[in-house]
Amino acid sequence: MIKVGINGYGTIGRRVAYAVRQQKDMVVTGIVKTKPDYVAQAAARDFRIFTPDGKAADAFSKAGVPVAGTLENLIDDSDIIVDATPEGMGAINLELYRKHRIKALFQGGEEHEMVQASFNAYSNFSESWGKDYVRVVSCNTTALARTVTSVRKDFGVRHVSATLIRRATDPNDSSKGPINALEPSLKFPSHHAPDLKTVIGNVDVETVAVKAPTTLMHVHVVQLELEKPADSAKVIEAMGKYSRILLVSGKAGMQSTAQIMDMARERGRDRSDLYEIAVWKESVNLKGQKLNYIQAVHQESDVVPENVDAIRAMFQTMDRDKSISETDKTLNIGNKV
Ligand code: NAD
Repeated sequence: MIKVGINGYGTIGRRVAYAVRQQKDMVVTGIVKTKPDYVAQAAARDFRIFTPDGKAADAFSKAGVPVAGTLENLIDDSDIIVDATPEGMGAINLELYRKHRIKALFQGGEEHEMVQASFNAYSNFSESWGKDYVRVVSCNTTALARTVTSVRKDFGVRHVSATLIRRATDPNDSSKGPINALEPSLKFPSHHAPDLKTVIGNVDVETVAVKAPTTLMHVHVVQLELEKPADSAKVIEAMGKYSRILLVSGKAGMQSTAQIMDMARERGRDRSDLYEIAVWKESVNLKGQKLNYIQAVHQESDVVPENVDAIRAMFQTMDRDKSISETDKTLNIGNKV
């Protein structure tokens, strides 16, 4: 059993904790929380709770949430820490993990340069094999990596161009916006282009991003220049071979992200999550060797199965296909609607 500690129990950390809990080859040793809020109270039913440094222990005790120790105690009890603290904090925590000689898996808010490999299960699983410090790329990059890799395998990809319409913030956050504006990223290409290259390698990529007042999902408008001729039926067939890509259709009532997330609720998953990247079948179109498609990304959950697979790669316990299949089975990924 791989003993997994979770540092940072927000949008990503809590989902990774429950996904790890479903695995037969892993156990959650505990989670780190800074405050004894409603999330900590719910977590205490299933996990041991640790605090960053012991300072908040009194507040937890007053709130009736038992504390098992500090982050350093959790490190001593674990084989790996999944660091899902806010963007940039992982870089600070890395020093502590190094000091304790413990493996650590970071998230997309951290820089590629601080780790030994960036991870996406379909694109570059083996690059994290046996590594100590790895980062699962962001929700947007994970989505692009999955679908680009599925097309690339059969048709080759010369150039990637994508417009990312990004959700402003997550549904549990009432502090950020915009609430009535569209906010373009003024950097070209946006940071997603270099990030995608960290997992798909040397392909020409350009991306632009616009923040939109929604919390449900991101939407990507993607154009790929293919190396080999294709048609839309063949592209749909190629994408359909990958369980973490879900082909959806407006004809089945899924015209927008609202219905896609409603469909996820109908599937009865934990927290109504949609781990798969949803690609609208009708949007898959070719003009010559230029392929266009549109995909929707559940930012809160698409990186969760990747975290589970990355842990196995870092411990060299399962090869790519076996790990993906095990993770998918336990998280109910790929059950077609
Ligand atoms: P979040 O703000 O929802 O969660 C972070 C958690 O860490 C919060 O509960 C916060 O209280 C806690 N925290 C703060 N200081 C801490 C400390 N010193 N020690 C321990 N915990 C501390 O953030 P998130 O959205 O889960 O993002 C985490 C990482 O995942 C970031 O790198 C982010 O870029 C990446 N990511 C986020 C999303 C997304 O859509 N939310 C998607 C993919 C990747």
